[in-house]
Amino acid sequence: MHGFIPPDRFFPYLTWTDIQAMPDKENVVIIQPLGSIEQHGPHLPIIVDSAIAAAVLGKALSKLHPTIPAYALPPLYYGKSNEHWHFPGTITLSAQTLLAVLTEMAESIYRAGFRKLVLMNAHGGQLQVMEIAARDIHQKYEDFLIFPLFIWRVPNMAKELLTPKELEYGIHAGDGETSLLLSILPEQVKMERAVAEYPQELPQDSLLSMEGKLPFAWVTRDLTQSGVMGDATVATKEKGDRLLESLGEGWVKAIEDVYKFRQPQAWMKSEGRSGGGEKSVITRLTN
Ligand SMILES: [Zn+2]
Repeated sequence: MHGFIPPDRFFPYLTWTDIQAMPDKENVVIIQPLGSIEQHGPHLPIIVDSAIAAAVLGKALSKLHPTIPAYALPPLYYGKSNEHWHFPGTITLSAQTLLAVLTEMAESIYRAGFRKLVLMNAHGGQLQVMEIAARDIHQKYEDFLIFPLFIWRVPNMAKELLTPKELEYGIHAGDGETSLLLSILPEQVKMERAVAEYPQELPQDSLLSMEGKLPFAWVTRDLTQSGVMGDATVATKEKGDRLLESLGEGWVKAIEDVYKFRQPQAWMKSEGRSGGGEKSVITRLTN
């Protein structure tokens, strides 16, 4: 059942008594891998994002120093994928459902005594939902630290291995994801069907762009016929191995940093300075 995750790092293999007895629970890093079940072109299986999340996390946890306590929750296979709605096989949760699932999962983790939760997300279409969930949960439980992290934002080899065009426009089922899948699940990749298709009819000489500072909303079929955005034909297992290795290393550092993280508490200082006499900033704001 643990798939790519080392069994001793797989949270569901623990017993409730293991969890109750765990030391320093407030610094234990609990990681929720988040993927999707959505079209990834004619050559890749619809499980791509979930597979990448689980494989990168497994790689990181197998490299992580054994003294750092960190556990992987079971991957959340379903995500918010409604941009791929028109392609059969895509299964999507609404933003509201995903927000509710994340919130209720997080509240369960909090109730068990944990205080650090990473949302490790491999699907670009749900970043905003992660961020809203993280802020809302932290606002409600102020000693609960939530980290909404996109899997590709840790240091990795993408800049060395992919072309500038691919880095900008190859956002879906292109060289990066196809190479990774050739490394992770090679038997599920149908390279003979791989295509190169970059997003079509993008605005020229315009402030507006697909994913820049001033974006327009799109669904996938607005921009591509095959469902691919990028060049899948140049993918190789060798590139995928190096990407996976570097993402794994980047995530080791991210998990270590979450373990060491201490919550900034400027409001505590302002209460300290007022010496209890004057009203602190926070009381004034809440009164
Ligand atoms: Zn993807």
